[in-house]
Amino acid sequence: MVDRFKALLVTLVDGETQVDFADLDEEALPPGDVLVKVAYSSLNYKDGLAVTNKGKIVRAFPMVPGVDLVGTVEESASPELHPGQWVVAVGAGLGERHWGGYSQYARLSADWLDPLPEGLTPQQAMGIGTAGVAAMMAAVALDDHWVDPANGPVVVTGASGGVGSMAVAILAQRGYTVAASTGRGQLADYLTSLGASQVLDRIELDRTPKSLEAGRWAGAVDSVGGNTLATVLATTLPGGTVASVGLAGSAALHTTVHPFILRGVTLVGVDSVNVAPPRRRAIWGRLAEELPGDLIDRMMRVEPLDQIFDLSEQIVAGQIQGRVVIDVGA
Ligand code: NDP
Repeated sequence: MVDRFKALLVTLVDGETQVDFADLDEEALPPGDVLVKVAYSSLNYKDGLAVTNKGKIVRAFPMVPGVDLVGTVEESASPELHPGQWVVAVGAGLGERHWGGYSQYARLSADWLDPLPEGLTPQQAMGIGTAGVAAMMAAVALDDHWVDPANGPVVVTGASGGVGSMAVAILAQRGYTVAASTGRGQLADYLTSLGASQVLDRIELDRTPKSLEAGRWAGAVDSVGGNTLATVLATTLPGGTVASVGLAGSAALHTTVHPFILRGVTLVGVDSVNVAPPRRRAIWGRLAEELPGDLIDRMMRVEPLDQIFDLSEQIVAGQIQGRVVIDVGA
């Protein structure tokens, strides 16, 4: 039996969403195969929307937000996971349909959990989190579509955010010449330290493009959407691939078929939530293998769960640099 513990709860009271800390006991947890003592979670754009109630993220009430978590197994009905083992969960609907990581204990389905990848500390696993998994899925998609560092530079939009920072680092480690598009020119040194060769002002891409423009990119990872994604498509080189990951700017996409039929450009979607466990474990394996620990550390900072309201406002306003790991025990 675990002691009483702290969790952030999103509830619906008389049709109004409320977000508050609650003191819970084990019986309050939803059913599942594995009880996890949560050490860290992380801050994602979706978490920011859930905590500030600015987007329709929470699909069932009451809900514990936090799309990522890492912790140790307390009890397990799964033969694959044993007490004391470090485990990690990203996506899988945590914080949306299933209780997530902003709680000192979680009960989950074994299918959503992976062993902590060898070579990563628990904090680094949350430094990577959903953002890193999505960025690696995007990098793999470029690979699958024959994008190669020799074909030309790649562009990463929303570069100083979580997905963007991870994508810059992963692609630079893979030998690409990376152009980082950002609205925060003051973070140019940070982006260069992750491996960016060039820093673009986001205004260059955040405009209405012609249906085709001079080709610049062999590939792209976009976390912004809207005009930015449309401009990236119009400026992608023949045979290039663009991975659409996010909508930090806009969910809209107004483009023409020209990039697709005149340049053979491929637009690939990335969804880190609905990923089969074997694929998810393969992605974690690549992240642990390809990202040096000091590079992960450079992209992350650790904050206590008590700060979650302020941090959520900041991520929704596009003011967070890199990744924030949430210390759930603090
Ligand atoms: P962050 O807030 O950390 O990063 C988003 C970045 O986008 C900001 O840092 C900023 O970068 C840029 N940005 C913010 N607002 C605007 C704007 N109005 N116009 C143009 N650029 C803007 O969020 P995450 O990295 O966690 O998530 C980014 C997006 O990816 C979100 O939409 C999120 O929901 C999505 N996502 C999708 C996943 C998937 O599986 N498909 C997984 C994880 C996230 P800068 O200051 O450098 O310009």
